[in-house]
Amino acid sequence: MGDHPSSGGSREETPASVRSLLGGTPLPRLETQMLLQHVLGVSRAWLIAHDTDPLDKAHVREFEALCARRLAGEPMAYLTGRREFMGHSFVVEPGVLIPRPETELLVETALGELARQGAERPRVLDLGTGSGAIAVSVALARPDAEVVATDLSEAALGVARRNARALGARVEFLPGSWFQALEGQRPFDLIVSNPPYIRDGDPHLAQGDLRFEPPGALTDGADGLAALAHIAAQAPHWLAPGGGLWMEHGYDQAADVRRFLLKAGFGRVDSLRDLAGIERISGGTLNDG
Ligand code: GLN
Repeated sequence: MGDHPSSGGSREETPASVRSLLGGTPLPRLETQMLLQHVLGVSRAWLIAHDTDPLDKAHVREFEALCARRLAGEPMAYLTGRREFMGHSFVVEPGVLIPRPETELLVETALGELARQGAERPRVLDLGTGSGAIAVSVALARPDAEVVATDLSEAALGVARRNARALGARVEFLPGSWFQALEGQRPFDLIVSNPPYIRDGDPHLAQGDLRFEPPGALTDGADGLAALAHIAAQAPHWLAPGGGLWMEHGYDQAADVRRFLLKAGFGRVDSLRDLAGIERISGGTLNDG
């Protein structure tokens, strides 16, 4: 990469092509393909069909800059500005957590809970919405639902609003810390959240994508259970009778979260495993009446 004789040298400069660029970096092929597609604004099929076409120098420079950033560890989603979640393409920026595949379990469980409750026009709350991935996905799957989403970060709410608008989802966004954002709101039938749950000082925070994500979206700065405990304890005040709460949590936090839920008065308390077999979300329902 970056081998462009600009002066001297008698050898003809061969213009870069898709083939030469993809072969010229130590990055995984899938990632170089995605970065090149992003720079050129083309599909995978285009790359294959135009394998040896000469490429524009500006595009080549942009691609090489992105490859260098990727090699330095920046997350793919921040480099391309997008991440798929629940089959929708979300805008992501460094100010928001990158949606994770395991969080789709939270959305699927939320939709199942709404179906089980059987209410029309259910009210759903997503606390700490970040990119809006959860709230927007629920709103798109249940267009009749009144979805409210909060975040402490105005930057995150900006991204979430853009996603809702671009994907055609009806979500009301409110700034503020957890339940403090909700003044004047009516009770909800379902509350969901993927709060920061990584312990302060957890070595994972210094690895991979997490190094580049907003710390406030990853860790509570304490034992990793502070936000989960707070949400479980306060949720009953904001739930209608029979309402449910489901939260995502870390691989070793399910028993603690079930304890928080029971202590707050929830019944039908349960944890569900993600595709990796890890207890990843826990939730429960308030008794009717
Ligand atoms: N699932 C993220 C991770 O472990 C953490 C997200 C969160 O704290 N809510 O990479």
